[in-house]
Amino acid sequence: MRSVPKFAFIRVSLILVTMLSNATAQTRRQPVDLLVVGGTIVTMDQERRVIPDGGIAVSQGRIVAVGPRAEIERDYTSRQRINTAGKVITPGLINGHTHVPMVLFRGLADDLDLQEWLTKYIFPAEAKNVTEEFVRVGARLGLAEMIRGGTTTYCDMYYFEDAIADETAKAGVRGVLGETIIDFPVADNKTNAEGMAYVEKFVTRWKGHALIIPAIAPHAPYTVSEQHLKAVRAFADRTGAPIVTHVSETKKELDDSVKDKGASPVAYLDRIGFLNNRVIAAHVVWPQGSDIEILARRGVGVVHNPQSNMKLASGVAPVPKMMAENVLVGLGTDGAASNNDLNMWEEMDTVAKLHKVFSGDPKVISAQQAFELATIRGAAALHLEKDIGSLEKGKRADILVIDRDTLNQIPLYNVYSDLVYATKASDVETVIINGRIVMRNRRLLTLNETTIKAEARAFRDRIIKSLGTSAVP
Ligand SMILES: [Zn+2]
Repeated sequence: MRSVPKFAFIRVSLILVTMLSNATAQTRRQPVDLLVVGGTIVTMDQERRVIPDGGIAVSQGRIVAVGPRAEIERDYTSRQRINTAGKVITPGLINGHTHVPMVLFRGLADDLDLQEWLTKYIFPAEAKNVTEEFVRVGARLGLAEMIRGGTTTYCDMYYFEDAIADETAKAGVRGVLGETIIDFPVADNKTNAEGMAYVEKFVTRWKGHALIIPAIAPHAPYTVSEQHLKAVRAFADRTGAPIVTHVSETKKELDDSVKDKGASPVAYLDRIGFLNNRVIAAHVVWPQGSDIEILARRGVGVVHNPQSNMKLASGVAPVPKMMAENVLVGLGTDGAASNNDLNMWEEMDTVAKLHKVFSGDPKVISAQQAFELATIRGAAALHLEKDIGSLEKGKRADILVIDRDTLNQIPLYNVYSDLVYATKASDVETVIINGRIVMRNRRLLTLNETTIKAEARAFRDRIIKSLGTSAVP
């Protein structure tokens, strides 16, 4: 019998071993819900890793792994896959302060200071028009605008917040949503007692939802009494709900507070025991004395709204100083009536440039810091840094895919410079929130854009009629 040549036996064995090990690798690959593979991943993790040819595995709404594409493809498999080669992948943006239905008042009254704008136009327009239907139509328009612009989490304060929560959950967007508490009759509640009863029901209904964090939102220290502010704090302590409010927005607010209460708004709020690490304070344009130290010590989140503050000439918040003194600072658009859009790309660009020109120091806020304000720092300002703000294992899968092939982004040298100074909202191509794709290749998947536009336009006519044409400047 002729013996089988030795080399042939070795070859066959080698092939068998390779086949076997491939099969084991395949069976060892963990199945996940979604794979995002290829492209440059800007993680915003502790080390601020930027992964050139990266991949992300997502399962049950959370990130299971982030790393080089080859490793992700070796370890994970999924039927749902997005090929992101040549794109930039970032965490979703966080709009730390807005009043989403106010998109329906966009451009209604511009070029005024805060007091005149609020008392002559916004409060009367709200008194005559804000209904649950108004809030739903406005929320849908705002949500569509936010998704298109890559905002995956927003912090809101308005009326009928339960309806806003419903629209937000349907759109698949994450929200810290605060029902307004204010000491005069408003659209949904006529008294403080009614407001507190509403918020009790609202928080009970949404607590524990994957996307909605129900909050209580006392409008400001000058529109809510000390007694009512203390009740808000007690409610937040009991329910764990965050507190969303406006603090120290204008010089007038500061002066009135010093005159009436003998302290700045921040010092007053601290004196009455209101401030803690569940408070999210919008603006803080005029901190005095030890206010910044108080905000840092109490763990208060501060949301800076540069475009709204500029437009109403409210002043320039000392953001670089607050950041240097470890205040949790985030970034927001404020309502669209004072901005006039919900575009976080513009806000990032503005925050860097405003503080450069104001301080005379071009290094005072870098592009990377501006991007942090809209992502990981913004998450901390909302007290959500354990869940969102970066692309890391264990965090919620809120992910943007950004087209890198638009003229305004070519060529690319530094990814943060590109994101902050050159990227436009329209460059956002795909948006994933909590592991669900809500926009794919610039097509909204959870909202009907045609209907939204038509409904919003119909409201414009009703608003003009309600105010009388002479009221619209
Ligand atoms: Zn506001």
